[in-house]
Amino acid sequence: MRVEYALTTLGALFGAVIGSFLNVCIVRLPAHQSVVRPRSRCPTCGLPVAWYDNIPVVSWLLLLGRCRGCREPISVLYPMVEISVALLWAWMAHRYGLTLETLRGALFGTILLGIALTDAREYIIPDEFSLGGLVVALLFSAFMGLSAVGSALVGGALGFGLLWVVGIGGTWLFKEEAMGGGDIKMMAMVGAFLGWQGVLLTVFLGALSGTIIFLPLRLMGQRKLVPFGVFLAIGAAVTYLVGPALIEWYRHYLGVS
Ligand SMILES: [Zn+2]
Repeated sequence: MRVEYALTTLGALFGAVIGSFLNVCIVRLPAHQSVVRPRSRCPTCGLPVAWYDNIPVVSWLLLLGRCRGCREPISVLYPMVEISVALLWAWMAHRYGLTLETLRGALFGTILLGIALTDAREYIIPDEFSLGGLVVALLFSAFMGLSAVGSALVGGALGFGLLWVVGIGGTWLFKEEAMGGGDIKMMAMVGAFLGWQGVLLTVFLGALSGTIIFLPLRLMGQRKLVPFGVFLAIGAAVTYLVGPALIEWYRHYLGVS
């Protein structure tokens, strides 16, 4: 029991640090800047962020959400991302214990959060998330045996192919680009993590959640487009968490076992 708590706490601490790095990625990757150099600065006064002002969540609270130099507000998004990723890593550590799946699930969730935020803010899904995540998924599958590698390759190919075909069809139908290249590469990554059934469920859930969230907004006169990658990220996260149980239930429902 004690070991379990220690592992969950360790997951939370590690997740907070990863979340802090994810913040850097979310800001810099869409602008094609290095995530390593230079060190973080205040965007208003240019003051470099000292290490003691860069402790996840804690520093933001101690500074009351303001820059030490110019007292300009620091976005609440930063500590929110750090807390979210900390909870995610703690949850995976609690759910899977000291296994490879803890790391796999936590990394997958972190990448999905990064994609959802960059796509929502900048309408961009950086290759570092999509293609980088694809490589991560394939590496994990290599540790899990030959059938896992096969599943990752088939899933990745279906994710890529399906979105590509939907994109071509959509462009032909609506006479404008319906699916960005970022979505296509993202689904190759998702497929490598979740397999081919996961791709189908992710796209279905993504379209469903998109409709549920987007339609009322549209009817209320909201014109701002929420990019599809955000919904695909939601769909992929739900699929990772409950996908196997859902597919099992559906098979049972159809009478196939
Ligand atoms: Zn400042």
